[in-house]
Amino acid sequence: MTNLSKYIREIPDFPKEGIRFKDITPLLQDSDAIKESVAQFLARIGDQKIDKVVAIESRGFLFGMLLAEKLNAGFVPIRKPGKLPADTYSEVYELEYGKDTLEIHTDAIKKGERIILHDDVLATGGTAKTACNLVKKMGGEIVQCNFLIELLFLNGRNKLNSYSVESLLKY
Ligand code: AMP
Repeated sequence: MTNLSKYIREIPDFPKEGIRFKDITPLLQDSDAIKESVAQFLARIGDQKIDKVVAIESRGFLFGMLLAEKLNAGFVPIRKPGKLPADTYSEVYELEYGKDTLEIHTDAIKKGERIILHDDVLATGGTAKTACNLVKKMGGEIVQCNFLIELLFLNGRNKLNSYSVESLLKY
């Protein structure tokens, strides 16, 4: 199995001081690393039936769409406010300083649909938890939350403790 960690570039103090940003663009440049990442995600999903992959703006869209295609599932974007054109549900969440909001189209998920929630990085878990809340409110059943990267020291997994959580790389 290819070690994907060699494709992750760490950028200190980006986008602000104290953050060690995990840059996935070296991985995206390499077709073998893309294929390996998709294969590892699929292995962790197994043969579970999935109706939709719900992915978080914007880096979540990259592998989210690839996974949807492989799983014969639909794809649903969760976006920052004002980006989605049709009617939306929204949920506000707390940031370190202030608040932010995520939105989803009201027709994106039908009751009982089986969902994979995907993003590139699980940090504090606030973003993923908010996205899960939107999916649950719409009646979706979250089968798994998956991430390329998990920052273990931020304990984001604790916020998602009612869900199955998978990450390909842990730091
Ligand atoms: P959180 O809500 O704290 O789990 O933050 C998750 C979101 O912020 C994800 O959408 C990530 O893309 C982004 N993020 C947080 N920390 C990092 C990091 N160190 N490197 C890259 N992206 C990050």
